[in-house]
Amino acid sequence: MSVEKQRTIKKAISYQGIALHTGFRARLTFRPADANSGIIFRRIDLPGKPTVKACGTNVTEVMRGTTIEDGDCVINTVEHVLAALVSQGVDNVIVDMDRPEPPIADGSSMPFIRLIEEAGTDEQDAEREYFIVDKPYFLEMEHAIINVVPDEKFRISCTVKYDQSQLDTQYLSLEVTRESFKTELSEARTFCGYHELEYLMKAGLARGGSLDNANVLHGNTILSKDGLRYPDEIVRHKMLDIVGDFCLLGKPMKGHIIAVKPGHPSNVTMVQKMLKEVNK
Ligand SMILES: [Zn+2]
Repeated sequence: MSVEKQRTIKKAISYQGIALHTGFRARLTFRPADANSGIIFRRIDLPGKPTVKACGTNVTEVMRGTTIEDGDCVINTVEHVLAALVSQGVDNVIVDMDRPEPPIADGSSMPFIRLIEEAGTDEQDAEREYFIVDKPYFLEMEHAIINVVPDEKFRISCTVKYDQSQLDTQYLSLEVTRESFKTELSEARTFCGYHELEYLMKAGLARGGSLDNANVLHGNTILSKDGLRYPDEIVRHKMLDIVGDFCLLGKPMKGHIIAVKPGHPSNVTMVQKMLKEVNK
């Protein structure tokens, strides 16, 4: 088998839009980065342009999205951007941001994939390294169960069920490749429960949220703009979030993630557990 090389973005490319929780208008720019540098976010609006690496050890908040932080550099809701980058084989990139949160776009990863495709990617000199799962990991947390077991491929099997809604259980299992991520997961939009709206508003969250970028579950219906993109869009978005959160391992993963009712807290706790075991 030929050796896979690391890749970076071919040229700088930008995207502008509203951020989900803060409601700011934000601009994100992908820039080429050296081999072995990983995915680095940089706050170009702050003095000294501080950076933070996309890594599980830098996660500081997981309630409504995944936040990473290093010194003065805080970036909220990184998961949809990370899912696009890791799934499309971008190992090294600098993500310049002029706000603490990337644009939510349409609530999916598709706009970021289009951006990567428009810029193109370049092969670099260094060999790509994988996080190879060589033993099983188990986690049970609140309502979530996450198991990660060895597999030659990167696979996700996910089950979701919402107690507050009358929607059926959704289940999907697939091997995540560049192509399958794009066709099967990337367009699934973020969502929230109708009952959560009041809490989110009171907490000052979802300020940029609307049916332009999120689905809302209400009873046995889903409020969404232009109908659902996949009949099981919810489980697909949960899998998109898993791809983004597991990117925080710092390398693309080979292994099978089996998740029941996952969320950012359980995803990130599992990533941190795996990193700890490896660095022992
Ligand atoms: Zn999400």
